[in-house]
Amino acid sequence: MLKKILSGKACAQCKICCVFDDSDIWEAPLITEKTKEDILKINPKQEFEPLGASMIMKMSKGENGLYKCPMLGENGCLLGDKKPFDCKIWPFRVMELDGRQVITLSPVCGELFKKPIGELVSLLEDGLADRIFNEAEKFPPMVKKYINGYPILAIK
Ligand code: SF4
Repeated sequence: MLKKILSGKACAQCKICCVFDDSDIWEAPLITEKTKEDILKINPKQEFEPLGASMIMKMSKGENGLYKCPMLGENGCLLGDKKPFDCKIWPFRVMELDGRQVITLSPVCGELFKKPIGELVSLLEDGLADRIFNEAEKFPPMVKKYINGYPILAIK
């Protein structure tokens, strides 16, 4: 979904969005029932835990203090095009600020954070923002509370 501006090569070398620490485990992708089925086809033993009105994959903390997504394989995400919507749009996030939904940019993604803001806004205005807001309407748990410091790129 972000292939126009985010190269697969850069993502394959980084993978920061697939590993979490205690401060950003909230970024773990929310799992829908459909994605749960896809995950269980890959690993029937994968467990899930509730997170608010949704669920995330159960992940154990490694010795380095990090949680690695169980769907992260040697060559990237084992789910391919079936990865959670949260992952398809990351580092964009839908957040709620003063009762309005906004699309923000996570500062954690070094690759996209260094792009000119105008390029990112154009991409959102070119239909991506509508797709993201539509998905958030269908699946409200993906809307997070606004976090100070996250640049706002689109407002619903
Ligand atoms: S589901 Fe795939 S893309 Fe999403 S965090 Fe896990 S490995 Fe990364």
